[in-house]
Amino acid sequence: MENDIKLFKETRAKIKAYGYFTWLMSWDQETEAPKGSVEYRTKQYEIIATEMYHVESNPAYLEAIERLYQNLDQLGDPDFKTEIKKTYKGLRVIKLVPMNEYIDYQVLTSQGSHIWAQAKEENNFELFRPTLEKIVEFNRKLVKYLETDELKGYDILLDFFEEGFGVKEYDLFFDTLKRDLVPFVMEVTARKPKTFNRKLSKSVFPALQQKAFSHYLMDVFSYNKNHGLLKESAHPFTSGVTSTDTRITTHYHEDQLASSIFSTIHEMGHAIYEMQNDLKYDDTFLHGGTSLGIHESQSRMYENMIGRSKVFWDLHYPKLVELFPKQLKNIEVDEFLAYINQAKRSLIRIEADELTYALHVMVRYELEKQLIKGTLKVKDLPKKWNQLMKAYVGIRPKTDREGVLQDIHWSGGAIGYFPTYALGSAYAAQMYQAMNKELDIEKAIAENNIKAINEWLKIHVHQFAGSKTPKEILQICSQEDFNPHYYVEYLKAKFR
Ligand SMILES: [Zn+2]
Repeated sequence: MENDIKLFKETRAKIKAYGYFTWLMSWDQETEAPKGSVEYRTKQYEIIATEMYHVESNPAYLEAIERLYQNLDQLGDPDFKTEIKKTYKGLRVIKLVPMNEYIDYQVLTSQGSHIWAQAKEENNFELFRPTLEKIVEFNRKLVKYLETDELKGYDILLDFFEEGFGVKEYDLFFDTLKRDLVPFVMEVTARKPKTFNRKLSKSVFPALQQKAFSHYLMDVFSYNKNHGLLKESAHPFTSGVTSTDTRITTHYHEDQLASSIFSTIHEMGHAIYEMQNDLKYDDTFLHGGTSLGIHESQSRMYENMIGRSKVFWDLHYPKLVELFPKQLKNIEVDEFLAYINQAKRSLIRIEADELTYALHVMVRYELEKQLIKGTLKVKDLPKKWNQLMKAYVGIRPKTDREGVLQDIHWSGGAIGYFPTYALGSAYAAQMYQAMNKELDIEKAIAENNIKAINEWLKIHVHQFAGSKTPKEILQICSQEDFNPHYYVEYLKAKFR
């Protein structure tokens, strides 16, 4: 045992070190590297990645993990137990799936995104269909290889991305949305939308001033500039491997004022989560968020619940006007608020507003569930997609490009991932109301004291990193199991 622990920790240190350098390389590539450096970089990257693979797949290391897992009870430290459990779980696929099938699948999914991109471009589902059929088929086999007494079928895929959340939990969640939210959304989106000054959508907003505002926001949210920074990339993201170095990007569209503002706030939500992990996790595999859903709850809370609130803009709108005096002339804060909180029926998930977003996800959840069960065939997917969009979002796509072909996820094999997007907003609503019992959130925002919110989240969510499950985090925050009613109530109050 002592030797196994020693080998595990030594190997972990190496993996973390390799991980840090490959992370730095990819960060650089996404943000600043000159285009012409790709070839040389890729050559070096491959050598490091191969070295890293050898370290990770060293048989002695894998055997040590296996033995530690078999003797979990004898490991005193609960964090170390969790880490061994998670590491072991991560290795299940490699252990239980026959190697040739696993490699075939890797090749299939690495080509998948190219084929999908072409199919989307040409609006031709038939082009993508054979690939997607193979991906679904593999996943139906995969769940057989991995099934346990507790987890079977689609549950296994869901649990990959959100531990402890399977069909039972998600059905409860989405049934609540179907019953309580869908009729409300249909009613609200049937109304004539509020009009607002056309200058908000038709002016040019120079990137330089947008950048100044994003930097202003970093101070407003107490984003720690000593441990993070803000750059630009094609698609905004958060990236970090330690609490002392967690970076974000945004993108400045000169024809869209709101885009960079809410990307910056969203990514800060992700970053502050990881920056506020307890330092003791930095050298372990537990650093980072505990799950995709909990991660997304933080970014959505910052973006939507704080960043799109009236109290927030009552305080910060003057700064925006100061940066864009011509463009925002004679536009009152309430009009700006109506502009950033529009709700309408739309086709594209990533452009959907706060009110309708989860319903887009619900469509995908239902389709995935049926595909894995075998009650829906890939060839019937476009038709079924359009039916569900009409039923849940109130609008039917005219093309597959705006329908079943819009997302990249399935082409890379990510089945079971989508539902975490909707879960994030629902977790956020539950955490928000729990926090509000101990801290007057609106008052904190009005007093430019978001630091107090960060502090509450640090104590109740962030410090634990990956050492608690999503369900445990919800219990710590709210002394309650997952309860989607808070989310529905929040949306109804806001959009009524
Ligand atoms: Zn996010």
